[in-house]
This record gives sequence, C-alpha cells and structure tokens, in this order.
Amino acid sequence: MKPAPVRGHVEVICGPMFAGKTEELLRRVRRARLAGLDVEVVNHALDDRRGPGMVSSHDGISEASRTAPDATGIGRLLEGRSPDIVAIDEAQFFGPDLVPVVDALAGNGMTVVVAGLSVTFDGRPFEPLPSLMATAEKVTRLTAVCAVCGGEAAFHQRVDPGAPADALTPVAEHVGGVETYQARCRHHRG
Ligand code: ADP
Ligand code: MG
Repeated sequence: MKPAPVRGHVEVICGPMFAGKTEELLRRVRRARLAGLDVEVVNHALDDRRGPGMVSSHDGISEASRTAPDATGIGRLLEGRSPDIVAIDEAQFFGPDLVPVVDALAGNGMTVVVAGLSVTFDGRPFEPLPSLMATAEKVTRLTAVCAVCGGEAAFHQRVDPGAPADALTPVAEHVGGVETYQARCRHHRG
C-alpha cells in the first residue's frame, strides 16, 4: 500500500506592482482561517507603508502580520511552532536566502504561500521570485493594468523623475505606491 501523501508545499503569487498579489495572498489567508487552519502572516521590516505589523494592499485591505528583518528571522518568529500555513508578502525584500528557508518550512509540513515582485522596476528578473517559481508546486502569475494603454502589464516602472532608474538601487526603493510607480505593458515600459 502507498504511504499517505506527505503534507507541505509551496505556492507562489507573483507579478509586477499593482497586480493584486497582496489581495490574492490575503484572500487565501482569510479562507484558510475560515476553515479553522492556523495561519501565520509574515512581512518584511522594510514594508512599513501602513505601519509595522501590517500586510496591506493598494486598495487598503490589510491583515495583522509578524515582521521579520531577514529570511532566517522567519524561522525565529515561528518560535518552534508549525502553523498550517505561513503566508509571506513582499518576498523580494528577503533576497535569495528566502529560498532555503521556504524549502525547509515546506519540508516540515507547512503550506508556504509566497507573494512578491518577479520583476524589478527596470524590467529584470527579481530574485528570489524566479527561483521560487521554478521549484514551487503552484505558481499564480498576475498582471496589472498598463497605465498607458490599459493592456496587460507584466512590468512596473518608476514615474518619480528624481529617482535613479536602475535596479542596483537598494531594495527599500521598491516600497512605494501610485505616486512613485506605474504598471506598464511590454510596449509602454522604459
Ligand atoms: P500588489 O500586491 O500586486 O502590488 P495589491 O494587491 O496591493 O497589488 O493591489 C491591487 C489593487 O491595486 C487592485 O485591485 C486595484 O484596485 C489597484 N490598482 C491600482 N493601480 C492598478 C493598476 N494599474 N492595475 C491594476 N490594479 C491597480
Ligand atoms: Mg503587495
């Protein structure tokens, strides 16, 4: 007889800014809680748009979260607990160190839902999302609405003219809203 399937897997939600990544993450968090599951929501310390300890969408939907300063901090804040679901927003801020941490959590039986930017504001792949997408069981790739033509936007770019326009800018520069960034399609970026 086959053994029962082992629990623990990875779900990635990715795309450019304004694609609805946080909305989708919070939708999954809320329906899991309705089902009585134990869910831990984690955000990076850099995302303090609505104050620390909050995951929030551009539309103002929000949920209380725990804050981690780096990828290894995620393990520390679980304090030996093993929730059914760990939902991580703004995954790009955690950098490549997030990949083994997510792998370990899923290996320990947790469902890990990871949302983050898969492109930088100058249109390049933004780790760790590409690596997570390649190894996740489930990937949900979202697009936004192009601010120029209304088409499908897989990119976003800075519209603040004073800002440097290269991806070497510290990752903290990726915190911002409609005043700083616009969603753009392939034909209207740059
Ligand atoms: P993300 O986490 O991917 O940045 P959010 O979940 O925070 O996105 O916000 C998604 C919401 O942003 C949409 O439901 C919509 O109301 C709003 N929004 C603002 N600008 C755009 C745009 N250009 N395209 C799509 N949605 C947009
Ligand atoms: Mg978001």
